This record gives sequence, C-alpha cells and structure tokens, in this order.
Amino acid sequence: MSRTLDPELRAALAARIRYYNEMGIYDFYRQPVSELASVPVADVSTELHQESREEMSPRKAAAVAAPMVVEESIFEVLTPKPEQRVSDPVKALKIIREDLGDCTRCPLHKQGRKQIVFGVGNPEAELMFVGEGPGADEDEQGEPFVGRAGQLLNNMIKAMGITREQVYIANIVKCRPPGNRTPEREECETCSPFLMRQIAVIKPKVIVALGATAAKTLLAMNSSMAQLRGRVYDFKPAGVRSNDPNWDGCKLAVTYHPAFLLRDPRQKGEAWKDLQMVMKELGMKAPKQIT
Ligand code: URA
Repeated sequence: MSRTLDPELRAALAARIRYYNEMGIYDFYRQPVSELASVPVADVSTELHQESREEMSPRKAAAVAAPMVVEESIFEVLTPKPEQRVSDPVKALKIIREDLGDCTRCPLHKQGRKQIVFGVGNPEAELMFVGEGPGADEDEQGEPFVGRAGQLLNNMIKAMGITREQVYIANIVKCRPPGNRTPEREECETCSPFLMRQIAVIKPKVIVALGATAAKTLLAMNSSMAQLRGRVYDFKPAGVRSNDPNWDGCKLAVTYHPAFLLRDPRQKGEAWKDLQMVMKELGMKAPKQIT
C-alpha cells in the first residue's frame, strides 16, 4: 500500500535515487512493511539530509533505500524496463509505445486529445529535439512538430545541414493540452518517464530542449530561459539506464521554442547561436543561417 510522502522527503529520496543511479546502483530491495513500520519517517528524512554530502557504503545505501517502499512511484522508476532486454531500437521503442497504451495516466487523456503523439524520426539519431506538447496539427496527424512551428523547426534542422529524417523529435507530454496551454507540472512528471525511456533507447549525442517547459523538465531546474540557454549540460535520462554500457548519457542544450521564434523572429539569431553550439558538440560545420 502506498502513502503520500512529505514533499521535502520525496525530493530528498528522488535526489538520493539519482545519486545511486549515477554510481551505477539501480536495484533496490523491498523490506517487509512490518519492518518498515518501526522506521520513523522523520528519522529517515534527517538521515538523508545529514548524509547528502557523504560517500555511501552499500549497507547504508540499503538502509536508506528500504523506506522507498512507502511510495510505489519512486520505487517504480528503478525497476528494469522491458525494452532494456532488446537491442534493436525500433523494437525497443515499440515496447515503450505499447507500454504507454491508450494512456489515461494524467488528466490530458480526457481533455480532448485525439491521439497520443509518441515521437518520430531516426531511432538511432545522434541529435534529438524535445518540445513541449502536441498542438492541434500534431494531435490530428499523430506526429510532433508538423504545424507552423514544425515548419520552422524543419528550417532550423535544414540550416544545420541535416534532414528531419536524421533526427528524432518528441515532446515532454504526448497528449495535446487543451487550447495549447502549457502542460501542468504533474502532467509533465507523469509523461516524461516515457520520454526518458525513449532517450535511453535512442542514445543521442545531443538533445536540444525547445523552450522552457522542455528545458525545465529535462534538467529538473526551475530557471529562466536566459539562465538556461548558452551552455551545454551533461544529461542522463532520469530513472532509466540504457542497455548499452558504453552510453553514459549525452549533452543537452536549450534554445527557444520555434513557436516563440514565430512570435518574435528577432530572436532567431540567438537560436542560431544555440544550434551552432550544438553543431560544435556534434563535430558538424555550420553551413548557413535559419530562414
Ligand atoms: N509545439 C510543441 O512543443 N510540440 C509540437 O509537437 C508542436 C508544437
């Protein structure tokens, strides 16, 4: 049975799990709930805070990991995913799509979506673009970035000297938010684990986060676009691991969302600077400007 955790404790546990994942520890074991009952939650919280800067011994790790049973969703992210046993990325993505099913996990499923927009492109892409969520055209066609913003994204990709077919394109949420509103944080948190799994399968070299929603969700940072742009981040998809031991995450850059560039074309030069930074990461030469 799950019970709701104090948000501060939840954040501390999530940070601890990420810390373990970075050390290559993914498998956690359940402790019978009867034993857990004697662990006061406040004590666990204090321990997490006290230990946050310490090296952890495996024994300590097990002791801290055990209380994760109190919330299934935290435990769940560490469970090996079925696609990890599959080496063909096409098949692996299909497994994730099947797992998603006719998703009803968040309120967006009953707010007028026509279909789930999973993602499109090269399953072995070196470059991946992540937007916010499908709009009306995408909802209609079942493919991300096919409307006006998509045309501009295509031009941006072309300006880099590559084609849309060479990259992979997806969104933080896979269902259209009504009236093209920004997806709620909870919707992003519910849907993004599927994107993280897609990233772990595709294993790109670089991800471009298009706009603040994508950047904040992927980086788990609540900063402004001005703070987020202009640098290259090291990125590992949260809560999953790739089945390729040689893939140790990728780079991530933030640029303006194409819909924003349509509203304020003067910022295209700035977006172009971001893409040039991305091309440098990929070892590509810059051919021309975005039109
Ligand atoms: N905007 C997005 O963020 N994603 C799309 O797929 C289309 C428009």
